[in-house]
Amino acid sequence: MTPDVLVVGGGNAALCAALMAAEAGARVLLLEAAPRAWRGGNSAHTRNLRCMHDAPQDVLVEAYPEEEFWQDLLKVTGGRTDEVLARRVIRDSSNCRDWMRRHGVRFQPSLSGALHTARTNAFFMGGGKALVNAYYRSAQHLGVQVRYDAPVDRIELQDGRFVAAWIGEERLTARSCVLAAGGFESNREWLREAWGRNARGEWPADNFLIRGTRFNQGVLLRQMLAAGADAIGDPTQAHMVAIDARAPLYDGGICTRIDCVSLGVVVNREARRFYDEGEDFWPKRYAIWGRLVAQQPGQTAFSIIDAKAQGRFMPPVFPGVQADTLPDLARQLNLDSATFMQTIDDFNRACRVGRFDHTALDDCHTEGVLPAKTHWARPIDTPPFRGYAVRPGITFTYLGLKTDETAAVRFGGVPSDNLFVAGEMMAGNVLGQGYTAGVGMSIGTAFGRIAGVQAAKAALGTRAQAAEVQHAAVA
Ligand SMILES: Cc1cc2nc3c(=O)[nH]c(=O)nc-3n(C[C@H](O)[C@H](O)[C@H](O)COP(=O)(O)OP(=O)(O)OC[C@H]3O[C@@H](n4cnc5c(N)ncnc54)[C@H](O)[C@@H]3O)c2cc1C
Repeated sequence: MTPDVLVVGGGNAALCAALMAAEAGARVLLLEAAPRAWRGGNSAHTRNLRCMHDAPQDVLVEAYPEEEFWQDLLKVTGGRTDEVLARRVIRDSSNCRDWMRRHGVRFQPSLSGALHTARTNAFFMGGGKALVNAYYRSAQHLGVQVRYDAPVDRIELQDGRFVAAWIGEERLTARSCVLAAGGFESNREWLREAWGRNARGEWPADNFLIRGTRFNQGVLLRQMLAAGADAIGDPTQAHMVAIDARAPLYDGGICTRIDCVSLGVVVNREARRFYDEGEDFWPKRYAIWGRLVAQQPGQTAFSIIDAKAQGRFMPPVFPGVQADTLPDLARQLNLDSATFMQTIDDFNRACRVGRFDHTALDDCHTEGVLPAKTHWARPIDTPPFRGYAVRPGITFTYLGLKTDETAAVRFGGVPSDNLFVAGEMMAGNVLGQGYTAGVGMSIGTAFGRIAGVQAAKAALGTRAQAAEVQHAAVA
């Protein structure tokens, strides 16, 4: 049977598209590069999605209106966002949860204290893995065919229209197609090429760790760009987190994140601070720290806290280096002790401690030290001290395919009438830089659902036309 709609990818965006297309009556085939055990891409690692709401809603407290969500996005992206598409994502985030529940996704309230997210983010019961499993189950019930170990290596196009997908020598045709095959974050060669060599002669990307799947190699992104699809974004822009330097190369996931940055100081390999650790709430800042560390010598840094920070952040999976004195901590972290002590002494002297409140942008700040720490600044003076070596952990890249409110892939500004895109492959339309926690799943859910509907419409329209032509011929 030839499917009406082919969906390439097996994560959240692909599954949302497949479910919507099937609900619209289309015959759907989903092609997932990974084997079944590794299905679900980066989506399987997630925990929540960011949702707009005007009043308390099931697991979400208070309100998070459209304008506040939009201002948050505007701030983190520094304006590098498409307002029409961003607002579409924001509005759709307010009404997708009932649909998600119908497909088996369950929600739970945010963990208290970890990331200030009880108001803004709906957490998935069982995490992204449970979400992905629920969607695959629901897809099966709706008759969606799924093929694993099916990496598509080429899309056949004709005049900006989808014709077929190729897996090696196998040619798969369909009336329309949704591309939801992730970014290129797992492709170390492409990252190396994008980041190039720095003034110190280092290849920074060689020291990156990939937080999620190894299957997002960007094969189709590269092919589509080479075929003339309109591009959006910069290849070095990405969601990048500072993660435990001991994390594995792929799939370390959420538990390798080091979440105590705003509670202490961060120094580089030369034992010097390099950025305001207290610039804003952690969910609005954690995703820039990978990039900041990528710019430091050796792409390494050290997050330093004292006893006052203990118990105030999500504990990392590996214990940090612990010491009763700061010089001993420096020694254990292989940092020059004199420089380290100078950095900490300068910082401690500069602290103007007011009323410490980690749930607000408090008045604890520094004066007379560069870089400043603008909130939550308290002297590092209470043993035991802890230090965590961190490296850049890349989550997903922002270079993608330019699209519009119909999720169409565009060629020279002209939207394709049967090729659509969703998820990381187009997230750069909304995220030119920066990140605010949970928006990746909001984008993938909104555009996955749009792409599914549009692909079904494109396919069923042509199926109806084909039936009419056949009927006329017979008559
Ligand atoms: C550790 C971690 C935690 C995260 N936490 C959150 C969170 O809590 N909230 C949030 O909003 N975002 C989070 N993110 C980001 C989030 O994962 C992404 O924004 C979102 O999952 C993207 O969905 P997607 O479907 O586009 O990509 P993916 O889920 O990565 O799916 C891409 C799919 O395409 C498949 N594929 C790739 N190439 C091909 C090919 N050539 N042929 C066929 N299939 C192919 C892959 O196997 C994969 O199944 C997190 C990411 C990571 C890594």
